[in-house]
Amino acid sequence: MSTHVTSSGLAAALVALKERFGENVVTGASVRDLHARDESHHAAVSPDVVVFAETTQDVADLVLIAARYTVPVVPFGAGSGLEGGAIPVHGGISLDTSRLDGVLEIRPDDMIVRVGAGVRRLALNHALRETGLFFPVDPGADASIGGMVATGASGTNAVRFGTMRENVLGLTVVTADGKIVRTGSLARKSSSGYDLTRLLVGSEGTLGIVTEAILRLHPVPEALSAHAGFATLAGAVAAVTDIKRLGLVIGRVELLDEPLVAVINRRGALSLAPLPTLFFEFHGQAEEIGSLSATIAAIVAEHGGTALVWARDRAAAQQLWEIRRVALSWAKAERPGAHSWPSDVCVPISRLAEVILETRADVDRSGLTAYIVGHVGDGNFHCVFMHLPGEVDEVHRLADRIVLCALEAGGTASGEHGVGLGKRAYQELEHGREAVALMRRLKAAFDPHGILNPGKVLPDPADHPTAHS
Ligand SMILES: Cc1cc2nc3c(=O)[nH]c(=O)nc-3n(C[C@H](O)[C@H](O)[C@H](O)COP(=O)(O)OP(=O)(O)OC[C@H]3O[C@@H](n4cnc5c(N)ncnc54)[C@H](O)[C@@H]3O)c2cc1C
Repeated sequence: MSTHVTSSGLAAALVALKERFGENVVTGASVRDLHARDESHHAAVSPDVVVFAETTQDVADLVLIAARYTVPVVPFGAGSGLEGGAIPVHGGISLDTSRLDGVLEIRPDDMIVRVGAGVRRLALNHALRETGLFFPVDPGADASIGGMVATGASGTNAVRFGTMRENVLGLTVVTADGKIVRTGSLARKSSSGYDLTRLLVGSEGTLGIVTEAILRLHPVPEALSAHAGFATLAGAVAAVTDIKRLGLVIGRVELLDEPLVAVINRRGALSLAPLPTLFFEFHGQAEEIGSLSATIAAIVAEHGGTALVWARDRAAAQQLWEIRRVALSWAKAERPGAHSWPSDVCVPISRLAEVILETRADVDRSGLTAYIVGHVGDGNFHCVFMHLPGEVDEVHRLADRIVLCALEAGGTASGEHGVGLGKRAYQELEHGREAVALMRRLKAAFDPHGILNPGKVLPDPADHPTAHS
């Protein structure tokens, strides 16, 4: 199923694309270069051509041309991916979805919205501001909805509202033979037929190209935020588990390790105790949260926590979460010339503290610079290496160990960033040979000529994960 683009095939495809799409076909070096990379550490590879699609029919016509000449098609959303998913490693067409940017239908009574794949998440929530509703999935970047569907994205809100998998009700997708397929419905639940929607969520452009999505919306919650430091990381994780058992709704709970807390203090953004720290957001009426605040404080103290510091108003709460969002970029700025490489494993919460501590010990032994942040309520954490070029082999070795450690704990190689290029080698170890063989059969059924984002998700037979461990 490998894609072999011949230069004559490519030349013929270019002629057909220009005839159909005119100025929306771009072969200039600067635009190709912008579509050669994402935000990951993976090497850039330029596409042969970039095409800007404006409608679902455009995408269908483009795929038909690509299929006729067996040219790869790699969807490109906002390019914020962290595993190289949008890099056209086999060249071909980079299909830019940014002009599929319509918020097509808001249905407040049904609490759903239909959007084009190119809509960015911040623009979507801006469009919803008068409704009292919002779309909660919040990767740290201003990603496109199509990219978020494709990677099965999540973020700080997932502990309360779930990931893309729980929040996508239906899709419009163009398949490898240029057909337009609609999956799901406007209904909030269904047990009708194979669940193509959930199969396509997380498929990273390898099974179909998303042009529209129907998304669940949620009422904007009442919320109060707070933070506390903990003597030990295990204490911080245990406190989260106990607070959840209290029945209080945790909207977000984020762990920042000691080195990242030090970065925040050096910036003067907050004055935090030099300890592993949790940022909390509790959902509910202020009185309800207030009535439980003494119990929350007691749980935190019982697990070695400091006094909880509550954000006094909405602005202070927003500032707290903005600090969480930008703290890693401050850490990067402290090391001029450094590149960032985030790991992204997810483990059962009962094993989270142990896996994080093992990771921290590995990092400390190696002398590398790295920071750990965690969506603790979900068992998902990122060890983010800020490395200089000479350190890349060591980073690779530790990133490999983190994945193997997570798999050994019963977890997954990717909690939210997807497989892309970086996690292909672990697929058999995580899912088993038979499951990967079934995935290959699915891929062959959806994309028999291998034109949709080739070289992603499924492992090369030569891949093996333990090369660096
Ligand atoms: C600072 C920062 C913080 C981040 N934090 C998070 C986080 O908290 N949680 C999280 O989940 N991610 C996070 N990410 C990663 C990234 O934002 C997500 O993976 C996001 O879903 C990618 O969306 P995108 O539009 O940028 O997609 P791209 O990077 O353009 O593409 C990603 C993948 O989706 C495919 N794709 C794109 N559009 C379509 C389409 N219409 N149809 C089919 N396939 C398509 C691409 O081919 C590629 O395989 C972060 C990234 C950065 C830079």
